[in-house]
Amino acid sequence: MLPVRSGRSQQVNYLNGIINSIIMSCYKGKYADELIANATYIGTPGKGILAADESTGTIGKRFSSINVENTESNRRALRELLFCTPGCMQYLSGVILFEETLFQSTAAGKPFVEVMKEGGALPGIKVDTGTVELAGTNGETTTQGLDGLAARCAKYYAAGARFAKWRAVLKIGPNEPSQLAINENANGLARYAIICQENGLVPIVEPEILVDGSHNIKKCADVTERVLAACYKALNDHKVLLEGTLLKPNMVTPGSDSEKAAPEVIAEYTVRALQRTMPPAVPAVVFLSGGQSEEEATVNLNAMNKLQTKKPWSLTFSYGRALQQSTLKAWAGKDENIEKAQKAFLARCKANSEATLGKYQGDAPLGEGAAESLHVKDYKY
Ligand code: 13P
Repeated sequence: MLPVRSGRSQQVNYLNGIINSIIMSCYKGKYADELIANATYIGTPGKGILAADESTGTIGKRFSSINVENTESNRRALRELLFCTPGCMQYLSGVILFEETLFQSTAAGKPFVEVMKEGGALPGIKVDTGTVELAGTNGETTTQGLDGLAARCAKYYAAGARFAKWRAVLKIGPNEPSQLAINENANGLARYAIICQENGLVPIVEPEILVDGSHNIKKCADVTERVLAACYKALNDHKVLLEGTLLKPNMVTPGSDSEKAAPEVIAEYTVRALQRTMPPAVPAVVFLSGGQSEEEATVNLNAMNKLQTKKPWSLTFSYGRALQQSTLKAWAGKDENIEKAQKAFLARCKANSEATLGKYQGDAPLGEGAAESLHVKDYKY
């Protein structure tokens, strides 16, 4: 407070302080324009993100389902198969990578980052280092990775990355998510987001509420709204430039042990949860698939884009499992299957691209595994 008997220069300083705090109400640093342009580009309707950032442990589990050894060369081979699928880049605006992949190349020696640049997809990078349990809770978690994050972001930017992902995980139970878990994860996401922006990376804000459980869709809607409201409060408190961010939420669905809901019902609940909590300043929502089958994830996204209601952001995808399942099965680690696997991958990319426009007719050729649930209890990334 300004003392009542203050001098002229004191008054000027005081007013300057107020003006500065208004101007600095969110990130306005040297990357601001670039962040807004990249976030908007990633959200382009007709395109979406391939999440290929499975950690070494997680890709190992995917590999063991097709009897493929978890070696650096097999991980590189799968990523080459995906990124070099002829025609796939027209449907992708971004690809999320694990650190190892950011620095890998095709067998012919072309850096993956170059493959993406040529195809018009921005390289992204997973920057969290996984979850740990929150003491005193019923198995709830917080996400780690803030230590040294600024330096890592700067290194990834120099290597060509332009956006980042940080996955916070919440669960639904009789008393979960706790307020502690909601606050802690919202704050972690906000702190991560501003560090990314200060280093030129668009932060994808991912508060994933796991589908595990027997709750109904109303419970999921209620929890999703509470979690998203807390996230946007924290993002504002941390002065994050919302126009230079993306949201990666779960869709609002019944729990995995409950009866499924129709796509139109999921669409209505999900879009309403977003309308109630997500500022129009954010350019796009890039949904995770969260254990839905490939086809379910496509059909549900399509239903949201067909819904006639207020939608001030684009609604697209950032799928991991739901873009790769039939491709993995078709490949099975064998060179002679690469073409067949790439066909399966292209079919899923095209179907999801159409879903971002509400134009998917349900006519994608269903590869092996395209209709099977990809739910894994307590999934780690
Ligand atoms: P799923 O689409 O497999 O749920 O994962 C996407 C992702 O990137 C989760 O962090």
